[in-house]
Amino acid sequence: MLSFNPSEVRIPNSHFIGGIAVDGGTGIDVKRPSDNQSYASVPNATPDLVDQAVENAYRAFKESGWADLSPRDRAKAMKRWANLIENDVNTLAQLESVGSTRPISAAVNWDVPFCAEGIRFYAEYADKCGGEVIPTQSDHLGMTITEPLGVVGAIAPWNFPLVMASWKVAPAIAAGNAVVLKPSEMTPFSVVRLAELAVEAGIPPGIFNVIQGDGLVGDTLARHPMISKVTFTGSTHTGALVMTACAQSGTKPVTLELGGKSPQLVFDDIKDIDKVARRIAGAITTNSGQVCVAGSRLLVQSGVAEQLIELISSVFEEQIAQSTWQDQATLSPIISAKEVDRIDSVVRKTVEEGANLYTGGCPLETADFSAFYKPTILTDVDMSMGAVRNEIFGPVLCVETFETDDDALSLASHPSYGLSAGVHTADLNRAMRMVKSLDAGTVWVNRYGRSWDFAIPTGGFKSSGIGKDLGRQAYEANRRVKSVLIDFSE
Ligand code: NAD
Repeated sequence: MLSFNPSEVRIPNSHFIGGIAVDGGTGIDVKRPSDNQSYASVPNATPDLVDQAVENAYRAFKESGWADLSPRDRAKAMKRWANLIENDVNTLAQLESVGSTRPISAAVNWDVPFCAEGIRFYAEYADKCGGEVIPTQSDHLGMTITEPLGVVGAIAPWNFPLVMASWKVAPAIAAGNAVVLKPSEMTPFSVVRLAELAVEAGIPPGIFNVIQGDGLVGDTLARHPMISKVTFTGSTHTGALVMTACAQSGTKPVTLELGGKSPQLVFDDIKDIDKVARRIAGAITTNSGQVCVAGSRLLVQSGVAEQLIELISSVFEEQIAQSTWQDQATLSPIISAKEVDRIDSVVRKTVEEGANLYTGGCPLETADFSAFYKPTILTDVDMSMGAVRNEIFGPVLCVETFETDDDALSLASHPSYGLSAGVHTADLNRAMRMVKSLDAGTVWVNRYGRSWDFAIPTGGFKSSGIGKDLGRQAYEANRRVKSVLIDFSE
């Protein structure tokens, strides 16, 4: 039985600096998405507190010995951390469920174990990535060595608080850096527990710090002169502001994981239409579409269109809308009442513009509050409509039909986003042609989204981002390369 009483969960509503909880800054009211009730306030850090966090991190980087430990010894501490996270699954999952859109069963079975897996993955990576020896003249030795960067500033969104934090923090710490993480002010608490567990595991205090606050705090962190690199996940709009802040404060390197409007291409040669319908439905109902890679556009070949849309609509009906702390909940609430209204107005406007509302199109009332949006299908849409062009970040699927492969590719092309795409076909040659032509950082073939793997880098093209999270790339982006040339001719 996973259900719990949200008012009995201890909320660690503080910053976490130098290995201890630190108060300070005015409180921002934080609401539970499931019932819109205020349940805690998060301290909005002053610039002095940001300074304190970065200085603590810098001191730990320089003096704790973490960066100088052998990669294997860093790995041992990180594996202890991963074990502690797994042992603490109930506390972490409850914190995640109270404050975010993650149903408790999803948090227990996916968010927390996936977070631990990321930390273990990068722990094991630390001793497998190094420099190289490069052939030059016969009496010279050319080589590269790699070093940690220093203090990494990490800024995270609200949609998967623990998982997004692990994507940023695990490679940075495994690579020998110290980190100051600023979670979203809407979902600030579970990562404090994550940081407490890092210290319990023997990672030196000050290597993983959490600073709480709003966008201004994020901006202060990004501009701090002692930050060596910024890794950001969030909207494309904010990503551009973060990049500007980095450019204006010492041309810092930046990794940006931003928004998307991802197409799913379904061809009429698919073998199992029920399975494909479940995949397409899952790609837009997971976290109620509040996912960067939400499969929010369905491009379907006309031969299977009618049947597929009908099947997707019936999968939508299986979703159970309950507060995130209820055992049975499968549909995630929308993060805030304001967002429910915004999603609803986008859908209404699209219908006014001529789209057909196939199903959904309204908030979903539950016993407590209308926190959910009914999974929605819009047909008769095109790229001139905002709902097709812009990220909605809600459970809204826009459907267009096509006849030929070229039509599919031309519909799939987006003027600015290039995060991910899905291809569903039984024809491997066609799949590979699509993979080659699609302008997307990740292409899933005959599956979608659920196959996240820390070994596979993720990150978008065009306005969807710069650089990669996950994989070897994320580890390497947290080290700098130093070139060494040795002349042994004398
Ligand atoms: P957001 O851009 O509003 O906020 C993200 C973070 O940036 C928050 O911590 C916020 O406080 C902070 N912030 C706001 N203004 C800032 C500024 N000027 N300087 C520095 N920091 C600032 O995004 P959100 O609403 O929290 O998250 C949803 C967005 O995140 C969606 O667009 C989604 O696609 C994107 N996202 C992308 C990925 C990916 O891997 N590509 C993953 C998850 C979410």
